Amino acid sequence: MSCYEVLIVGAGHAGAQAGIALRQAGFEGSIAMIGDEKYPPYERPPLSKEYFAGDKSFDRILIRPANFWAERTIDMLLGRRVKSVDPVGKFVTAGDEEIGYGKLIWCTGGSPRMLTCNGADAHNVHAVRRRNDVDAMMAKIDHIDHVTIIGGGYIGLEAAAVLSKFGKSVVLLEALDRVLARVAGEDLSRFYEAEHRAHGVDLRTGAKMDCIEVVDGKATAVLMQDSERIATDMVIVGIGIIPETGPLIAAGAAGSNGVDVDEYCRTSLPDIYAVGDCASHANRFAGGTQMRLESVQNANDQAKVAVAHIMGKDEAYDAVPWFWSNQYDLKLQTVGLSTGFDQTVMRGNPASRSFSVVYLKGGKVIALDCVNMVKDYVQGRAHVISGAALDVAQLADASVPLKEVQLA
Ligand SMILES: Cc1cc2nc3c(=O)[nH]c(=O)nc-3n(C[C@H](O)[C@H](O)[C@H](O)COP(=O)(O)OP(=O)(O)OC[C@H]3O[C@@H](n4cnc5c(N)ncnc54)[C@H](O)[C@@H]3O)c2cc1C
Repeated sequence: MSCYEVLIVGAGHAGAQAGIALRQAGFEGSIAMIGDEKYPPYERPPLSKEYFAGDKSFDRILIRPANFWAERTIDMLLGRRVKSVDPVGKFVTAGDEEIGYGKLIWCTGGSPRMLTCNGADAHNVHAVRRRNDVDAMMAKIDHIDHVTIIGGGYIGLEAAAVLSKFGKSVVLLEALDRVLARVAGEDLSRFYEAEHRAHGVDLRTGAKMDCIEVVDGKATAVLMQDSERIATDMVIVGIGIIPETGPLIAAGAAGSNGVDVDEYCRTSLPDIYAVGDCASHANRFAGGTQMRLESVQNANDQAKVAVAHIMGKDEAYDAVPWFWSNQYDLKLQTVGLSTGFDQTVMRGNPASRSFSVVYLKGGKVIALDCVNMVKDYVQGRAHVISGAALDVAQLADASVPLKEVQLA
């Protein structure tokens, strides 16, 4: 049985950062990274943006050049899926192979939640999570006209923006009464709904689908609960992910929606850390609520925390959450978590396509959504970190730079 001092499972954002951080910290022991995709770690956000749009090649979205890992003597065991973990014997099983570890860092992200209705398994029903998903769509794109997107979260909206740029006829179905309902306030939702409609997307909220009509294995229409038939050549499903935690939970790790980790990203199993989309942690920017964050920021920052702990440093996770989304010529940057806000303040005018929404809870700034407003995003960060209670009249005046807004 081969054995590594640190074994990283999952060759995505968190896994890559864990490997990079270990070597940067001077760790000289053996490291391997096991990944079930056949590619070295690559950036996932471009899959619904520049890579999908054909503006960036795959080489340009690699997190590090392909030879980086060998140069750092990190063994890449790609195209292999870990099926089980033995926390007593300290080894994992991938295929027929058992691979031992001193410390295990679990960085397996999540798999797209798929529809369960009739027709959900048709071959032109796609998710957007892996390179192969996008390549499969791109191979068909020139031969289709009508695309139906299920889900009005960031991935569905970004895919709609790319497809409308391609000149496709796009219907986007969101079951709730507004898009981005899980992550943003109503002002931002309504702004993006209007933008997509202005770009020709047939965006429908409160849209309840029933099932997918399939002919010869191919989806031909989405059938709605009100009996409407939406003819389609392709269906894209963007309704969230299910964390990939099966082997760890089966091994006895605590967790339900994700693997529970403490402030050092330790799971309840000895010498096993979990990091990134699959890790459920108490986040101080959500008032200490146990949650999973699905962002590059979280994957990178948690990986650094786990590595620091392995290197003997107790550096508790306390990073401010941030995120971005590109749709059309709109660059959205968010900082903080708006969950639980009780007041919003608009800075600027959405009609100008450059504005920010500031989220407050109990008078304190907890988050900002900034659309084409880089300055607010940069300057608002400090207010989110300190939880500042700011003068609301000044806050609402976009001519007052955020860093100059007085305390209330
Ligand atoms: C289309 C898209 C757009 C996004 N846009 C943004 C954005 O704009 N900004 C942002 O901050 N975030 C964005 N995200 C989210 C961001 O990409 C994720 O938060 C990030 O990838 C999480 O990193 P991770 O390492 O936890 O998981 P991943 O990057 O998903 O890596 C996990 C890897 O582990 C592999 N794996 C799973 N199970 C096993 C197993 N048992 N054995 C071996 N390997 C396994 C997976 O196949 C995968 O390769 C986007 C995500 C997607 C899909």
